[in-house]
Amino acid sequence: MQILLVGAGLSGAVIGRRLAEAGHHCRIIDTRGHIGGNCFTERDPETGVMMHVYGPHIFHTDDEEVWAYVNGFAEFMPFQNRVKSTTRGAVYSLPINLLTINQFFGKAMRPDEARDFVAGEADLTIEDPQNFEEQALRFVGRDLYEAFFKGYTEKQWGCAPTELPASILKRLPVRFNYDDNYFFHRFQGMPRDGYTPMIAAILEHPNITVELNTPYTPDMAGAAGHVFWSGPLDGFFDYDLGRLGYRTLDFERFTCQGDYQGCAVMNYGDREVPWTRITEHKHFSPWESHEGSICYREYSRACGPDDIPYYPIRLVEEKALLDDYITRAEATTGVTFVGRLGTYRYLDMDVTIREALETAAAFLDCVGTGHAA
Ligand code: UDP
Repeated sequence: MQILLVGAGLSGAVIGRRLAEAGHHCRIIDTRGHIGGNCFTERDPETGVMMHVYGPHIFHTDDEEVWAYVNGFAEFMPFQNRVKSTTRGAVYSLPINLLTINQFFGKAMRPDEARDFVAGEADLTIEDPQNFEEQALRFVGRDLYEAFFKGYTEKQWGCAPTELPASILKRLPVRFNYDDNYFFHRFQGMPRDGYTPMIAAILEHPNITVELNTPYTPDMAGAAGHVFWSGPLDGFFDYDLGRLGYRTLDFERFTCQGDYQGCAVMNYGDREVPWTRITEHKHFSPWESHEGSICYREYSRACGPDDIPYYPIRLVEEKALLDDYITRAEATTGVTFVGRLGTYRYLDMDVTIREALETAAAFLDCVGTGHAA
């Protein structure tokens, strides 16, 4: 069967590869001039630094099959993200751990003491946190919340933390030991040469053709037996019910010699500092050595029609609109909506790949392989 996949990011590549292996012919188009979507990486020609062009992407998963899958297409180097946060004129370790707690409160507590102490700070009257702020107050109390989460979250999401779902904060653990690994997953790493060659290797199959700088037009669907859409869900319907809200990011690039900040990611908790974080890209490839360094100051703002969407917002009004679009999507035959933009969810890369593998398997169960009988 002729399959059209709109978007050459992780979802399109993984689904396309599975269907191509099963004998279907996959045409993958993308409006941008490169593959990989927001996972795109490239080497800066002057310094040689591997750039995470659309912001930091660190691979982490507990899913053995997904880990084996990505390792089949790229050599992964060990990498653990150790994020720091600058707030109120001092630098702390994230996620909030025993070092953060001891430094912040000027104490020397052991794990159980810190647990009791933080429990004393927490607002235990909040039994069932309904939003981001309540979740933070319930688990870490007002002081830590205001220093590390409130300002950052207002900058990142452009709204009050009371309007955001508690699930966003649940991404971050609080630890009562000195483990400062940002993620707790069993498998963590970084592809040695960045994500672009990994995705290129996934796309490398005789049954796959990739066309870049190629926007989707409805006549393309007619020539295909099925469409996988990884562009914005509302975009498929020409935004005719209204636009789902996204945050976009602006990166202010600057260069220096040597080491600018000593780590890959430095968050800024203070509301008065306009950026959310600074990324120093060469620290994402600690096995390489470069004299020059490139940093991005990262700013978040509402996504306009011509901007690149990054984070789905999913506030109350988005949820109602989303439900309407989902109803339309379900009624649209011959099209499967996939990935972060196609399903309007905040997805990590491993979940994206897991879902893509399952989507491809379900499709093949339904239509069978494309091999001649
Ligand atoms: N967050 C925060 N302070 C920080 C880091 C994160 O308040 O220093 C909040 C913020 O609302 C953010 C969420 O926690 O959107 C999830 O953080 P994560 O680091 O997972 O965000 P990502 O790297 O996906 O942007």
